[in-house]
Amino acid sequence: MRVVIVGAGHAGVQLAAALAQAGHGIVLVGEETALPYHRPPLSKGYMLGEVDDAALALRPAAFYDTIERHAGVRAVAIDRPAQRLILADGTALAYDHLVLATGLRNRRLAGALSLRDIADAAALRARLAAARDVVVIGAGFIGLEFAAVAKTPERRVTVIEAAPRILGRSVSAPVADCIAAWHRARGTVLQCATGPSEAHFRADLVLAGIGADPDVALAKEAGLAIDNGIAVDAWLATSDPAISAIGDCASFPTASGRVRLESVQNATDQARCLAARLAGRPAPYDAVPWFWSDQGDIKLQIAGLGQGADHLVLRGDPASARFSVFRFRDGRLAAVESINRPADHMAARKLLGRLTPEQAADENVNLKALCT
Ligand SMILES: Cc1cc2nc3c(=O)[nH]c(=O)nc-3n(C[C@H](O)[C@H](O)[C@H](O)COP(=O)(O)OP(=O)(O)OC[C@H]3O[C@@H](n4cnc5c(N)ncnc54)[C@H](O)[C@@H]3O)c2cc1C
Repeated sequence: MRVVIVGAGHAGVQLAAALAQAGHGIVLVGEETALPYHRPPLSKGYMLGEVDDAALALRPAAFYDTIERHAGVRAVAIDRPAQRLILADGTALAYDHLVLATGLRNRRLAGALSLRDIADAAALRARLAAARDVVVIGAGFIGLEFAAVAKTPERRVTVIEAAPRILGRSVSAPVADCIAAWHRARGTVLQCATGPSEAHFRADLVLAGIGADPDVALAKEAGLAIDNGIAVDAWLATSDPAISAIGDCASFPTASGRVRLESVQNATDQARCLAARLAGRPAPYDAVPWFWSDQGDIKLQIAGLGQGADHLVLRGDPASARFSVFRFRDGRLAAVESINRPADHMAARKLLGRLTPEQAADENVNLKALCT
């Protein structure tokens, strides 16, 4: 079977690697020219100068000799009746199965830089070296991770957030408060419920971390169903059975509605799930979602999805910056957010839906022991 994959990011490359093992013909199309790379370090170790380009590589260069790779070119159309993908340079690629792994496009703000790919990160890193006054617009994960790297005793860093608190859609209040306190203790100015003013744009460096939208351009043009991303079924197939979608760009059904996730775990697990289907072992996608964010010595890990949670239980002391928040929905454990408690996180991945609020609150209950 000839499988054509659009998007050479975490999902696309993981799928290519899994399918290569199964002996399929693989074509990987990506508009970026760099060898496919890990994106999370761009706002962390790479920005700090601790991780270089070589260490970012998702696969060794030799892997791409085993597949057909088209780099530096955007796919612009899908000829569905003829099962062909059309590239911007006019190349037409025939497919038996087409996979869209097109990720996200950042929302942009005039006068501000953006961070999505390695070219953005390299430009930001160079500008940061000379900057003394930095403004970050948007207190989401990427903005806060960048602020954590940018803040030094010599550099002023201001983070502006339109919502009443940081990470409003992503984490519970105790976790957001702990992270906000950590940034403030280092001298970063966090201003919530505030929009950017003209004065903010006079800083040496302004980064907009104001979210991103799924890149559905190709899917939309081809008439595929769109619903907060490229809509797929439980097996990750789009409204055309010869086309699937995975990773940040895809929205999939769950028991609590349609969901679209922006995480490495989701991208790689969906790639594995789809590879199994294309190898004749179909199974619905039901991996436990998990995510991490590193900000200085704060390591946040999240298991599950906290949206709609109606009750929370703390384990550990937030003042110590070493605690977990167990979030329950209708009495069932829906998500666990851990700050510097990796053992809680590992246990949580197995205990979602099973742990009671009483067990979560009791430090004498050994979570690891309950996992078996
Ligand atoms: C700075 C940063 C930090 C992050 N930190 C974390 C973290 O700590 N933890 C975590 O879990 N996640 C993190 N993420 C998110 C994580 O990187 C994404 O969830 C993951 O990359 C999604 O993989 P993907 O393959 O779906 O999309 P991507 O990795 O974004 O890849 C999509 C690729 O498709 C290409 N493309 C799109 N359209 C076309 C087209 N028409 N033709 C050709 N190519 C196309 C794009 O150029 C891109 O290269 C971070 C993201 C960023 C940007």
